[in-house]
Amino acid sequence: MKSSKEPSVALDSNPEHALPATPKARIGIDLGGTKIEVICLEHSGLVSYQKRFDTPRDGYESILKALADAIYLADPETDPGLMKPIGIGMPGAVSKKTGLMKNCNTTELNHRNLAADLGEVLNRPVKIANDADCFTLSEAIDGAGQDYHCVFGVILGTGVGGGIAIHQTLLAGPNAIAGEWGHNRIPLERLQSDIDFPWALDRPCYCGQRDCIETWLSGAGVAKSYEALTGERWTAAQIFENPDQSEATQKTFQQYSQLCALSLSTVINLIDPEIIVLGGGLSKTPGLCAAIAGHWAHYVFSDQVDTRIESAQHGDASGVRGAAWLWSPSAYSTFR
Ligand SMILES: [Zn+2]
Repeated sequence: MKSSKEPSVALDSNPEHALPATPKARIGIDLGGTKIEVICLEHSGLVSYQKRFDTPRDGYESILKALADAIYLADPETDPGLMKPIGIGMPGAVSKKTGLMKNCNTTELNHRNLAADLGEVLNRPVKIANDADCFTLSEAIDGAGQDYHCVFGVILGTGVGGGIAIHQTLLAGPNAIAGEWGHNRIPLERLQSDIDFPWALDRPCYCGQRDCIETWLSGAGVAKSYEALTGERWTAAQIFENPDQSEATQKTFQQYSQLCALSLSTVINLIDPEIIVLGGGLSKTPGLCAAIAGHWAHYVFSDQVDTRIESAQHGDASGVRGAAWLWSPSAYSTFR
């Protein structure tokens, strides 16, 4: 989830922490609310180490220690010239104004300078970025988007986020919100005449707006739509993974794929990416990419829509791979 991307990248800027030019291998970490996943990613793209740990729930210092212990296990090297650099992806953001973490759902991290603190403990450089950006970078470098100049990466899960990569370089922008798509309002009026559905409009979003794309395309959004249709409270996984597809689940899927097509048409109209790569739990819904592609010609301002849409090549591993790829020489635009 790129909840409120202000993201982008926080770098431990201690000059004593030497920056390797092009490292042979990198450590990538996916820091979630319940799990910490650590990988060692070789320059070839091969994962030579992988381990998962529980995220401590008893304060910032415990999280810092858990991260440090996990990194020492993955890379016990003590020679500063040989240590692997660290990239961390997580829901949340780094404030451009303060350099401190913000909007993290692991709330102990908010108002902390995680990159600098961890860099100090480990005596090596650390980069942190939003998880949707990490996802996009991974798919742009050696995933489904590797053969394309412009990649829009989308997370459809607990939250809805996005990232933009041009020539395998993430866009950040002066406000560090490039790709922050989930908190645009969805133009529902274009759909209401297309689908017969109990719309129950005006969904409030935690960001303060109403009917953000996230309120309709997230897992909770799907559950709300299904409840409006049936009166029953099911999770998105129960609705879309149910092998006995009822009329109600089919109708919810049709509405969801059309909502995705409408929302993504605004991206195509704006940046016209060559490929859109879907990640996150909902992206695994069978037939979703094809259904979206079948709907979006109706909404895109063009007589043709040749945009590709595919699921993430690296699946759930894309986030942690992208965190490691933050140490690719071209990961971020220098214009940030
Ligand atoms: Zn919102």
